Amino acid sequence: MNFEELCLDTRILRAVTEMGFEQVSPIQAQAIPIAIEGRDLIGQAQTGTGKTAAFGIPLLQRVDPHNKKLQAIVLCPTRELAIQCANEMRKFAKFMHGIKVLPIYGGQDITKQIRSLKGGTQVIIGTPGRVIDHINRHTLKMGTVGTVVLDEADEMLNMGFREDIETILETLPDEHQTLLFSATMPRPIMEIAGNYLKNPEIIKVVKKELTVPKIEQYYYEVNPRKKSEVLSRLIDMYDPELSLIFCNTKRKVDELVDDLKGRGYFAAGLHGDMKQSQRDRVMNGFRSGKTDILVATDVAARGIDIDDVEAVFNYDVPQDDEYYVHRIGRTGRAGRTGRAFTLVVGREIYKLKDIQRYCKTKIKRQPIPSVNDITDIKVEKLMEKASDIIENENLGKMIGILEEHLDERDYSSLEMAAALLMMQMGENEMPSEVMHREEFGDTGAEPGMVRLFINIGKKQKVRIGDILGAVAGESGMEGALVGAIDMYDKFTFVEVPNEYAADVIDAMKDAKIKGKTVNVEPANKKD
Ligand code: AMP
Repeated sequence: MNFEELCLDTRILRAVTEMGFEQVSPIQAQAIPIAIEGRDLIGQAQTGTGKTAAFGIPLLQRVDPHNKKLQAIVLCPTRELAIQCANEMRKFAKFMHGIKVLPIYGGQDITKQIRSLKGGTQVIIGTPGRVIDHINRHTLKMGTVGTVVLDEADEMLNMGFREDIETILETLPDEHQTLLFSATMPRPIMEIAGNYLKNPEIIKVVKKELTVPKIEQYYYEVNPRKKSEVLSRLIDMYDPELSLIFCNTKRKVDELVDDLKGRGYFAAGLHGDMKQSQRDRVMNGFRSGKTDILVATDVAARGIDIDDVEAVFNYDVPQDDEYYVHRIGRTGRAGRTGRAFTLVVGREIYKLKDIQRYCKTKIKRQPIPSVNDITDIKVEKLMEKASDIIENENLGKMIGILEEHLDERDYSSLEMAAALLMMQMGENEMPSEVMHREEFGDTGAEPGMVRLFINIGKKQKVRIGDILGAVAGESGMEGALVGAIDMYDKFTFVEVPNEYAADVIDAMKDAKIKGKTVNVEPANKKD
């Protein structure tokens, strides 16, 4: 099954191709054909499996751009997910002129939302509470909705949205399609399905028994903007002779290869868009040692026999447990030591936990190596090489050259050695210490997040949007990554991804909210 077969609308196919999707993920292969037919569906799938596309692609194919009425509604548990989902859907709809996708969620100014809704929105991505709010105000008219999606249904129930969801489902016209996605299938989900879905097809990505090779596996929580920097540090630190790096899309492969080359690595990319002759050239370079880093998509890597790499890097968390096992299985062959490293951004940590559970394997969290760690390792390696040369080579000629120069210039031999060492280390090119990441302990936030305390609240006439704007604006982090914001009279708690927390605290030092200087610090768990 490929995207040409699944995207009946060529405009969506174009968008998906531009996004660099190469291979249909298992949930997409199963869900899209059913959903396109207009049938109801229950899909058991986690975030990170590509489920937004699994419902988004068929949903958009059923929307008529010439009709400006509301045609589809996606319910998500949180604001963050609603924004993420809307962004992804907008990408799929990039070439479908006339389709408007709008996220609506609590905390955002409702009058603004009403104005946007009046402009003719066909697809709404919303949190249940805010959707009800609009239904009650008659600013959302459900009579024309043809598709409704319950995304992360179990999570919505955990958050107490059952009644809201049922109320929303009651307002739908008789003729409509319901797509329900949930990571788990507890009884209340099955009850909702029983009451509101018509003869649904149940799909589940069946897990094969997977045998994970016994190699060391590590993961690093990273800021998405610093991914290539962290990757470079890991490559420098472990210095593998041959490495294989996996990305989820062709576009990422190309971008990463350019980035790595810019940093002075011998890297080459391999993906499905390349001609056979190009692929052969890349593989020859890798086998001959001209290239020591190969960056590939899962599909491209499948067709090649490179099974003896020293390290596998998952630049992107794979979309399927099976891909993870295939990827890391490329290292540690024939009794050789192998290592696998995975970079994790924000909520991808859940996907990784899922992989660990299904593959019954342990992936250890490691702190990102600091510049000093890398300097120490580089020095250690150089000193080992130097000792080897001193013991095994004849240095007479070199000593003669040095003596001549030292006499002329009046330097000590130690100074000269230090200068040569600096040249070897490329000291000037050492990355700046941007990654310093503090450990914040347990701040009572959800996994992967840090809860921050800000000494400003409702009494100062601050709104959630002000907090969101300040935190995202000052730190340069995408607003969608900001987690829960709880506002009280005199203070506010805001959750941000672990890897951004230090940046946010730092950036907020000089920031003002509503003209007031604020203090931001990690929350205590008891708060
Ligand atoms: P989701 O599970 O929908 O949250 O998707 C997780 C990530 O995978 C998103 O960044 C998607 O853009 C990406 N993605 C979804 N489907 C594919 C695919 N078939 N190939 C590559 N990336 C994908």
